[in-house]
Order: sequence, then structure tokens, then C-alpha cells
Amino acid sequence: MRWHGVIHRYRDYLPVTEKTPVITLQEGNTPLIRADRLGEALDSRVELFLKFEGANPTGSFKDRGMTVAISKAVEEKMTAVVCASTGNTSASASAYAARAGCRAYVVVPKGNVAMGKLSQALMHGARLIQLQGNFDEAFEIVKSVAEKFPIALVNSINPFRIEGQKTAAFEVCEQLERSPDRVFIPVGNAGNISAYWKGFREYREAGRIQNLPRMIGWQAEGAAPLVRGEVVKHPETVASAIRIGNPANWSMARAAIEESHGEIGLVSDAEILDAYRQVAQLEGVFCEPASAAAVAGLVKQCREGKIPRGAQVVCILTGHGLKDSEVALTLAPPLQPVEANIEAVVEAMGLN
Ligand SMILES: *Cc1c(COP(=O)(O)O)cnc(C)c1O
Repeated sequence: MRWHGVIHRYRDYLPVTEKTPVITLQEGNTPLIRADRLGEALDSRVELFLKFEGANPTGSFKDRGMTVAISKAVEEKMTAVVCASTGNTSASASAYAARAGCRAYVVVPKGNVAMGKLSQALMHGARLIQLQGNFDEAFEIVKSVAEKFPIALVNSINPFRIEGQKTAAFEVCEQLERSPDRVFIPVGNAGNISAYWKGFREYREAGRIQNLPRMIGWQAEGAAPLVRGEVVKHPETVASAIRIGNPANWSMARAAIEESHGEIGLVSDAEILDAYRQVAQLEGVFCEPASAAAVAGLVKQCREGKIPRGAQVVCILTGHGLKDSEVALTLAPPLQPVEANIEAVVEAMGLN
């Protein structure tokens, strides 16, 4: 059966009507990949799955929320959208705005944004503004801009974003044919963990699942305001998509964690990069560093013996590794060209 995107598939659960124009790139329906080799490496009897959100049209889960946010903006006769972004929101907003024939304004922190994401915004014709400041400053500014001008704000404080993103929880339940026991997820602005929790709750209310998972969120050590319980003025981490010091959805995320009897923890950049490499080398899945924070969190909890035997665990791999290939390349030794003959190549292969 052809897939027509998350609004078409989950219309009954979304704030859309017959009158809502559907702006879609056929996002969603992403793979839930069983990860036995990684599970075994964790030396813990977990039944591990990776929800690969990098398989969305612009390469991150942001597309699920953006299809709803942009469709509603068009329904409300808006002709322009604005967002602050660590990269993926701008890539997604730019693509969906292009499709809708809207103008997109995206404000990104100077430096610190992956090249893949910047190139997407530029190719889709967004007006890209590089700010001499961090994400949190960019976010405060775009909020004020959206109040002063007839421009729709498409950051995750836009409730339509959360509505669209909750469809990932629906898919996980359908793919597993039950609800997982635990969901490991990276946390930046904290919209996604809130969206998943909303999705699981709604599916239980609808009688589609019996139980609810624990939501286990992960932040980077240098950008962990939710773990520390206070705003981080100068967030720092290699995982640029979660380099956020003052999350917009702070209280919603806290509620998701408390209501689900979950947790929020932190992992170091070194742990993130180890997990990043492990997922790629053991499972053939290339995610971005921010996504690997969830896997690093699982590694940590397995080591601490916190995961019961046989638990069904889903790690949310929020974005595609090709977005931020600079990070991958810095991990590898520099390439040394070899002479164009078989002896040199065989030697380089380490076969003699
Ligand atoms: C946006 C993003 C996150 C963080 O999601 P929040 O909803 O801001 O918590 C994590 N990983 C990637 C790849 C992202 O693009």
C-alpha cells in the first residue's frame, strides 16, 4: 500500500479537518530496526530496536511535526514561517515551506551548525540568518519576531509540531505490536520526548496498547539543563542538535519523565562518540551524534545493571549521520593515498 505521510495515516489523531491543505513529503513510516549485535555487545539481555528517524525525507524526525505545522500555517493563510534552529528544524521548515510556496526565515547560531543542514536550508531557498549568538538567543529573538509580524513560528513550542511528532510513538507500537518497555531518546529543546509520551498515552486511551513505556531522556554533559535543574548559559557538546541550554518544553518533558516513571541522565561527548561509532559498525546504521546520546545512555544503564532481562528497548535515532559527516571524518585517521598497483593496495588492505 502506498504511504501518503503522517497526516493521511493518523488523521483521526491530529488537529486537521477536511479544509486543511496537506503539505507532505510522505514523512514517517520509518524503519524500526532490530539491533541484536549491538544488544549483545551491551552484554545485557535486552531486546533492542532502533527507530531510524534519519530515514525521513529531510533526514530527521522534525519532518513529522513540520508537515502538520506548515499545513496549519497554510490553512491559516500564513505566507511565511520562521524558526530558530540548531540545524534540523531549519532544514525541515525550509523544505516544507518550499513545497507550500511559503517563505522560510531560519535563524541559526554562527558556527556549530552541521554543513549538511545548512546546505539543505540554502538549497530550499530559505532566508538564512546566522546569529552571533547561541540557539537559546536565536529562539528568544524569533519568538519576538513572530509576535510582531504575520509569520508562523514553527519551533516546537508550536503545538502542531508536537502533534505531528507523536505519530512516531504510534508507529513504534504498530511495528512492535505492543508498547515497548523503555524508550531512550536524546533531549535538546525537549519537544520530542514530550511528543512521544503524548502519543503513547493517546494510543493507550484508544485501546491500541495495554501498557506505557518508561521515557528515558539523555542530554550531553555540557548541555544538560534538565538534569542539573538549571539553565546552562553556554551549552557545549559535539552533538550540535542538542546543544541547548534553556529548553522551551521544560515542564512538558519533566511531566513525561515523572508520569512514565522514567529518568533523565547525561552522557559525555566521549561516550556519545563511542556509541555513534558502535551503532554504525555493529548495525550498519549511521545516525548523527545527537541521536547517539540515546544509545550512549543505554550503554551506561546496561553497565549499571539498570535494565531488566528481556526488556524491550527502543532507541530513537533522531537524525541521519550524513547531516554531520564532519564529525565522522574527524574520528578517522587522515587518508593516505597509495600507488595504483596491486601490491600497494594489498599492503594497504593489510593482507600481507
Ligand atoms: C531536534 C533534534 C533533537 C532534539 O529534539 P528536541 O525535541 O529538541 O528535544 C535530537 N536529535 C536530533 C537529530 C534533532 O534534530
